[in-house]
Amino acid sequence: MEEKGLLLIVSGFSGAGKGTIVKEFISRNNDVRLSVSATTREKRQGEQEGVHYYYISKDQFENMIDRGDMFEYASYVNNYYGTPKSFVMKQLEEGHDVILEIEMQGALQVKRMYDEAILIFVVPPHAKDLEDRLFGRGTETAEVIKNRLRRSCEEVDLIKYYDYIIVNDQLSDSVRMLENIRNAEHLKVKHYENLIDKLKGELQGIIN
Ligand code: 5GP
Repeated sequence: MEEKGLLLIVSGFSGAGKGTIVKEFISRNNDVRLSVSATTREKRQGEQEGVHYYYISKDQFENMIDRGDMFEYASYVNNYYGTPKSFVMKQLEEGHDVILEIEMQGALQVKRMYDEAILIFVVPPHAKDLEDRLFGRGTETAEVIKNRLRRSCEEVDLIKYYDYIIVNDQLSDSVRMLENIRNAEHLKVKHYENLIDKLKGELQGIIN
């Protein structure tokens, strides 16, 4: 049977640069499948339907929850965000590694039901970088930015439930760290049970 793919989950403070890291990671590792989330938030300038998100209404979102079509979901700064289930399950079953870029509540939900998920949290070297980036992006009002920073403050105490942390100073270093995590996870002994069994058989054949 084909080995299932790895489920990599990247979260981080708003403005920590996780979106950029994931985008660059995908462009360098195009065998990894990126899950496109559904959201009820407004489309930002430059964003595209089906590329950045599926933009749906609150009713549509709640229908998806009721039908069990969400792998996970969370409410974040007054909007719903969720991962459509069918894409993720299919890709993992087919042996592809899948990456989700989601906030912390959703990531911890996934970890509770799927312990093999690999949780990675992105932080900046200094908190001031978050404020600078969020204002510099110019896509949100000062009030929304304040709410996002407040949310980050609440998230700090839950970082300990993650498996890895990336301190995002230089983009290229951060992308390499994500690649290193993926590579190391693939080298775990549990992924080599078939090879180990085969070697055992071969060794027994040699000594007998
Ligand atoms: P933004 O509005 O900046 O695109 O996203 C806000 C937050 O929602 C980010 O932390 C992002 O990672 C998270 N997010 C995006 N998609 C999902 C999702 O499908 N599920 C969850 N739980 N969070 C998501």
